[in-house]
Amino acid sequence: KAERVRSATTTIFAEMSALAVATGSVNLGQGFPDTDGPDWMLGAARQAIADGVNQYPPGRGIAPLRQAVVDHSRRHHGLEYDPDTEVVITTGATEALAAAMLAFVDPGDEVVALEPFYDSYAASIDLAGGTRVGVGLFGPDFRLDHAELAAAFTDRTKLVLVNSPHNPTGTVLGRDDLAEIARLAVAHDVLVVCDEVYEHLVFDDAEHVPLATFPGMRERTLRISSSGKTFSATGWKIGWALGPAELVTELTAVKQFLTYVSGAPFQPAVARALDEGDAWVEANRVSLQGKRDRLAAGLRSVGLDPVVPQGTYFMTTDVRPLGYDDGVAFCRDLPHRCGVVAIPHQVFYDDVEAGRPYVRWAFCKEDAVLDEAVRRLGGLT
Ligand code: PMP
Ligand code: GLN
Repeated sequence: KAERVRSATTTIFAEMSALAVATGSVNLGQGFPDTDGPDWMLGAARQAIADGVNQYPPGRGIAPLRQAVVDHSRRHHGLEYDPDTEVVITTGATEALAAAMLAFVDPGDEVVALEPFYDSYAASIDLAGGTRVGVGLFGPDFRLDHAELAAAFTDRTKLVLVNSPHNPTGTVLGRDDLAEIARLAVAHDVLVVCDEVYEHLVFDDAEHVPLATFPGMRERTLRISSSGKTFSATGWKIGWALGPAELVTELTAVKQFLTYVSGAPFQPAVARALDEGDAWVEANRVSLQGKRDRLAAGLRSVGLDPVVPQGTYFMTTDVRPLGYDDGVAFCRDLPHRCGVVAIPHQVFYDDVEAGRPYVRWAFCKEDAVLDEAVRRLGGLT
């Protein structure tokens, strides 16, 4: 196996979802909703297939979708992009992230990223031959330490990869955090890639502010997002990257040789969802906030004290109150002991000790599914 794919083993999500099926467990592991996005969006994809939208679309994506992405960015965040030169449609955020690393990172370059890292980050940085430099969002509060952030930047830093709202911790970076990242990015003249796939999944008074809105940032930042989370269609794999034309052109050049183009019949459906779906997105956000509170109450009732997230659809607990000191051992036992699947944080850390006791639970599930998981967990104590 080539050195550059050393971190590319079966993903924890595939492993734990297979374990859920094999053991008949309630799956609060892999992050996918158990209710699909709006019917009219699903119908639009069926209609596109019936209408013959089944051959290669344009490499950067169909014009109505690029326009819809740009309009959405302006409407929600006040950020303007040119639909012809400053946006590319990708096969999910995953492809945009990988293409960005391949396009901009050379062997030896350092990539600063928040640790725990979403699993594809380590693999994508490795594919490019880069070196990841983690900045801890560590428990128990999972907040950013500004001194540690500043210390991560060196003269080899090429790019900073920022994920907020953050998977798996649920942390939403505040304006003070973002201003500090922006200051360092400008001072060190580095590129910034922002993974904003959970941009609409923020709760209470938390607010998602794109880093690209900070002074000096738009011209050095690629904003990556995806329809998967926003419209509960994780299997459609329609994502995008927005940024200055030079950066989008380089990313597109790589994308051509990864997948060439992305999911023709899904593109008009996602364009319609972006144009007409704001009310659905808001209702879904409110519903998820209720599910968050429901699962948090349930976990408390079985002796687990969750870190209630400000964003994403993931919640974290420390498993030590249940007599475990290792989240991996806990997650491997759990399906057999009580028929529930969760994801251990540890697999997302270079600093394994920092992640050891934590476990992630997805709450993007029907209330009855969350209740059943809690009922089963009740058997543990
Ligand atoms: N980034 C983060 C932080 C994620 O949680 C996910 C999971 N969906 C992705 C990227 C990948 O998104 P997509 O499914 O659109 O490729
Ligand atoms: N993003 C999803 C999660 O964090 C999983 C996506 C995947 O399986 N690659 O659970």
